[in-house]
Amino acid sequence: MGSLEDRSALVTGASKSIGRGIAEAFAREGADVVVNYHSDEEAAEETVETIEDDGGTAIAVQADVSDEDEARQLVERTTAEFGGVDVLVNNAGILEPATIDEMDVETWDRTISVDLRGTFLVTRFAIEGMLERGSGRIINVASQLGIKGAEELTHYSAAKGGVIAFTRALAREVAPDIQVNAIAPGPIETDMLDDTTEEWRENKKAEVPLDRIGTVDDVVPTAVLLAGDGGDYYTGQTLSPDGGDAMH
Ligand code: NAP
Repeated sequence: MGSLEDRSALVTGASKSIGRGIAEAFAREGADVVVNYHSDEEAAEETVETIEDDGGTAIAVQADVSDEDEARQLVERTTAEFGGVDVLVNNAGILEPATIDEMDVETWDRTISVDLRGTFLVTRFAIEGMLERGSGRIINVASQLGIKGAEELTHYSAAKGGVIAFTRALAREVAPDIQVNAIAPGPIETDMLDDTTEEWRENKKAEVPLDRIGTVDDVVPTAVLLAGDGGDYYTGQTLSPDGGDAMH
């Protein structure tokens, strides 16, 4: 028996990278998984195929988490397919570096919309069923930059700091029935880092006491812990698989 047998999970931004790793691990633990994606249908279908080849159950559902109607429909589709959302992982995120003097308002708004508003919207619709059933787990993927900040990322750091504060406030509001926690990874080798320079990576590595950029596999076990029985006594917490980048 896996630790998520008979549960349904909705993972946003699961077409690739961290979201994909979490979706695949949840399916291995027995959950029925909705693999949400925004633009990369092919990658989302690959995630589903991997899960099915492994004997699991998953469907891919397109939705922009920053759009109210699409976020609502994403939750409705999950409920129609799998009976509700037992575990929600708000993982979808974007990162578009810009210094404050060169940041246009659209870039600021887009980041806040996907990384913070998207977390609120999907939670807002998923939590109705959780409150009715009197149970549920919500895991918000924040970032170590929401704690320590980073140059050229004022918008991203503000959004992720907001996700951490949102997690704490919501955890208090919906306890004890629903548990809400955040994961704040450090730098992780994914598509999100595709545009970074070698110099940036070397500098970044130097900031991390464990002296390396992390991998998706460094993050996934924390999500499995928080979703399953091992996470029974966690709420309002921010767990940090970050190599020691932001000690808090
Ligand atoms: P990634 O490789 O860029 O993948 C991002 C995922 O989010 C993709 O599946 C993408 O879907 C989806 N997405 C983007 N905009 C969306 C939207 N509007 N609606 C729905 N889905 C959307 O990123 P990652 O590195 O795995 O990051 C995952 C999460 O971890 C993010 O919240 C990120 O901020 C956080 N994080 C990452 C790092 C890191 O170093 N990588 C560190 C700390 C925190 P499509 O591909 O289909 O468009």
